[in-house]
Amino acid sequence: MPELGSDPRRRRQYLKALGVDIYVRRGPSTVEAAEAAEVATMPEPVAVAELRPRAAPVSRAEAPLPGPEPASREFVAPAVAPTPAVQVPTDWTGLRDMVRDCSRCKLCATRTQTVFGVGLESAPLMVVGEGPGADEDARGEPFVGRAGQLLDQMLAAIGQSRDQNTYIANVVKCRPPGNRDPEADEVEACRPYLDRQIELVKPRLIVALGRIAAQRLLQSDAPLSRLRGPLYQYGAGRTPVLVTYHPAYLLRSPREKSKSWDDLKRVHQLLRQPA
Ligand code: SF4
Repeated sequence: MPELGSDPRRRRQYLKALGVDIYVRRGPSTVEAAEAAEVATMPEPVAVAELRPRAAPVSRAEAPLPGPEPASREFVAPAVAPTPAVQVPTDWTGLRDMVRDCSRCKLCATRTQTVFGVGLESAPLMVVGEGPGADEDARGEPFVGRAGQLLDQMLAAIGQSRDQNTYIANVVKCRPPGNRDPEADEVEACRPYLDRQIELVKPRLIVALGRIAAQRLLQSDAPLSRLRGPLYQYGAGRTPVLVTYHPAYLLRSPREKSKSWDDLKRVHQLLRQPA
């Protein structure tokens, strides 16, 4: 894969969009040196966490006494893919057709069209977002609005793109009205489709963008602030999962962009590790 930002000028643009200051010193290596230093000081990735399945819901009477809070953030949530409740095609064409005609949840009534996914279907990196917004609903492609442009810049900063080496999909394939969060029954209804996409892509790394995607993939109710950080595993393939901020959140909260850049550098580093 390409080196981190092989074109210094373009990379500087991406980093500016991300709100990352690059100090350029005189001399031949300039930005390269600045970023090499950044990468060199990155923490080693944490060991992939062993995750415990979330207990089935129990009634209040059956519920055990609460135990102590887990001491480690590694024990936040499980990353176990449940068995799909429906038969879902095992090939891209069949899956795409099934999603296009899907009416498994109430979002089918208000969508313009389904938004399946985009990118290289055998990509090493898979990015999972929440659900389509107005632009995506109109275009039929994920992440095409302002947040999508920022996502493209973020990916480009680490040598990734939806055209070449990244696959992008959402937790739900239909737009929730008014851009509200997808509801639990909608996430559950759409679960088999995303699971199958992950199985077909077989990515080396999944990046969950934002709380909804992170909670869906990790089967957790924890806030993003607790989920971000550890490296998880997903499904039978034990695919590593990293959680970071949704680009729409970064547009609203530019202060978090530097943390997002830390996450991106980690993504880059993980993808460069030997398979
Ligand atoms: S959100 Fe998913 S489950 Fe619901 S109608 Fe759309 S494709 Fe079907």
